[in-house]
Amino acid sequence: MKKHNFNAGPSILPQSTIENTAKAVLNFNDSGLSLMEMSHRSKDFQAVMDETEALFKEILDIPQGYSVLFLGGGASMQFCMVPYNLLEKKAAYLNTGTWANKALKEAKLFGEVVEVASSKDANFSFIPKDYVIPTDADYFHITTNNTIFGTEIRKDLDSPVTLVADMSSDIFSRPIDVSKYGLIYGGAQKNLAPAGVTFVIVKDELLGKVSRPIPTMLDYRTHIKGGSMFNTPPCVPIFGALQTLKWIKGLGGVSVLEKMNIEKAQLLYDEIDRNKLFKGTAAVEDRSLMNICFVMNDEYKELEEEFGKFAAERGMVGIKGHRSVGGFRASTYNALPRESVLALIDCMKEFERKA
Ligand SMILES: *Cc1c(COP(=O)(O)O)cnc(C)c1O
Repeated sequence: MKKHNFNAGPSILPQSTIENTAKAVLNFNDSGLSLMEMSHRSKDFQAVMDETEALFKEILDIPQGYSVLFLGGGASMQFCMVPYNLLEKKAAYLNTGTWANKALKEAKLFGEVVEVASSKDANFSFIPKDYVIPTDADYFHITTNNTIFGTEIRKDLDSPVTLVADMSSDIFSRPIDVSKYGLIYGGAQKNLAPAGVTFVIVKDELLGKVSRPIPTMLDYRTHIKGGSMFNTPPCVPIFGALQTLKWIKGLGGVSVLEKMNIEKAQLLYDEIDRNKLFKGTAAVEDRSLMNICFVMNDEYKELEEEFGKFAAERGMVGIKGHRSVGGFRASTYNALPRESVLALIDCMKEFERKA
């Protein structure tokens, strides 16, 4: 049976990413060697790294003065690397969910942290909008897409101080104005590559300003200087990222993906709003295009488990909601075809007829 992969992360990747990476793992460029057993210092791998970085910059239209890094440690490592490198006295954080909260908690180890606003009391079902960013903060940190709660900040905010964003789960889903940000980071495993590589886009001039000593591996300057090869990089995931970037370019870039993502999300949200069994959990104006969270209406609550089974039997994978929200979450990342959204909608309609 055809599987429809709605996993939240690691999640669906373009078929070409999987096939090309599998081929290179068996035999890289007809070299007779596996991608897994080549030196990262070889000419061949250096070419992979160079092309990945160049294409990453091209697709996101990254201006001069920014570096792009491919590191280990996940987005979670960036929760500490960001304040380590940028927080001298005070930082501001917008608390929009589990990941935002983890980032905020880590920053407290390095200085004063101002939580400018939080939607915790409403189980993070919306993005706070009226808040004041202290102008003496070293930076303002946001999480653009809240993977667990299904809310998203879809426009590039204006910030009086350096804007830092965790874009783990919506990078490459739409065009962004990188010049509005000082630093953008994310784990690759949602929209870019297999797990194991973390991307960082950083404005070079922000670095070297804090007074504390920074351990070599946690200092962005080390990795800029080393071209993301100060130590052995995650070679296979980086190769995977390159394949996804080529796929994005082939489709026509992030503005084409944005249109497709809007259409897919709209189809599913329309069904959630129409179907008497279901309701969305995120505030309508903050609904994510990447993670669509919904639950069963109160009078049908007892059918929740049955719907989960019903959908699984029809090939739906990974639609169980995160335990902190319950219900269902359909992740509709870039690589998820429209056809999978339609298949899920069919399930919802069929189940409604039966109920
Ligand atoms: C998945 C996710 C993370 C955690 O990423 P790791 O690479 O596992 O550390 C952080 N932030 C957001 C928004 C995520 O979706």
